[in-house]
Amino acid sequence: MRNEDLLMEKLFYQDTHMIDFEAKVTECVQEKEGRFRVLLDRTAFFPEEGGQGPDAGTLGGLKVLDVQIRKGRTAQKDPAGKEDTAPREDLIYHYLEAPLKEGSLVKGHVDWPQRFDYMQQHTGEHILSGLVHAKYGYDNVGFHLGKEEVTLDFNGSLTLKDMREIELEANRIVWRNLPVLVFFPAPEILAGLEYRSKLTLTENVRIVEIPGVDVCACCAPHVEHTGEIGLIKVTNVQSHRGGVRVNILCGERALGDYTLRQDSVGAVSVLLSARQDRIPEAVTRLKEEALREKQRANGLQARLLEFQIAALPSPEASPNAILFTGELDAIALRNAVNALCERYSGYCGIFSGDDSAGYRYIIGSSALDCREAAKLLRERFGAKGGGTAPMVQGSIAAPENEILSFFSTRFSS
Ligand SMILES: [Zn+2]
Repeated sequence: MRNEDLLMEKLFYQDTHMIDFEAKVTECVQEKEGRFRVLLDRTAFFPEEGGQGPDAGTLGGLKVLDVQIRKGRTAQKDPAGKEDTAPREDLIYHYLEAPLKEGSLVKGHVDWPQRFDYMQQHTGEHILSGLVHAKYGYDNVGFHLGKEEVTLDFNGSLTLKDMREIELEANRIVWRNLPVLVFFPAPEILAGLEYRSKLTLTENVRIVEIPGVDVCACCAPHVEHTGEIGLIKVTNVQSHRGGVRVNILCGERALGDYTLRQDSVGAVSVLLSARQDRIPEAVTRLKEEALREKQRANGLQARLLEFQIAALPSPEASPNAILFTGELDAIALRNAVNALCERYSGYCGIFSGDDSAGYRYIIGSSALDCREAAKLLRERFGAKGGGTAPMVQGSIAAPENEILSFFSTRFSS
């Protein structure tokens, strides 16, 4: 097989809207994991490159699992058996589940919805990066375009407010429906050209230009007019490696996200009986009400505890004082335990909670080592917690009656 036979024509460079094509299988190699690696004389499949995921589709009726580009030299034997180390640049490998016959003509089909979606995201990214570069001088130093997420990294800081301004400008460029120009300038023209992603290469540099907005070296398929992008939405801006990472959604992705948020906000609005634009106030009010209710419940619980303490057997009858209450804040619990310790010489414990959710406990004693009680509770019930000799605290998942009988049998003296 001659080397020239392996060099392939990139159909996506000529026509980004071409989804059906015919090509000759120039090589088909079985890989270890049972996948087959296929080379064609021409392809419309864009490989994974420059942060963008590969095209999907079918080849010879078989599902294309992956498309990868390999650059540089690959040693090949020519028919005379001589080693051929000529550069095999930019070979695009198509990965399939089954083999295709070498030399045969096959039909390829690129999944258009995914290709178009990727083009929308990618051209949207160029507009945003071009505007950020022009306004702030920052470079796009990282780009990821996957099925779920699109992120761009800039080497300078930007706020969400900054990006909202850029986003509006970017959408105005979409609405102007500017042409997206793609060309390979001659080296002397390239040398004098101002563009982003300036490469050291001087030949075959592919330039993507949106007139008056952005000029950038890029290998990926783009929409032909900015209007095809539909909508550009910045969804998040966060600090990242000394700069920022920006999440964006373009086209149908942005519309889908809008619908999702609309449904979510609509549901919350119904639950709160509040207009959608009044949700923050309604939630604030609800939180304030909940806090007031909690404080009221705490007050009632503390009052109830006072009655429970008054109803305890006398210190002479029982040196330990063990009580169970509903939810009570830590300060009220601690105060109650301290008050008990002044009257009872044994363990004074309060368990706050209920049998199903478990209890938070505080145990104090004026004479005994509470760490001993914590240790025994840990051994018997797997309770958590610890502290100092006069006071321990923690949590326990056991029913009230079992804890009470444990105290009466272990600490009855
Ligand atoms: Zn690009």
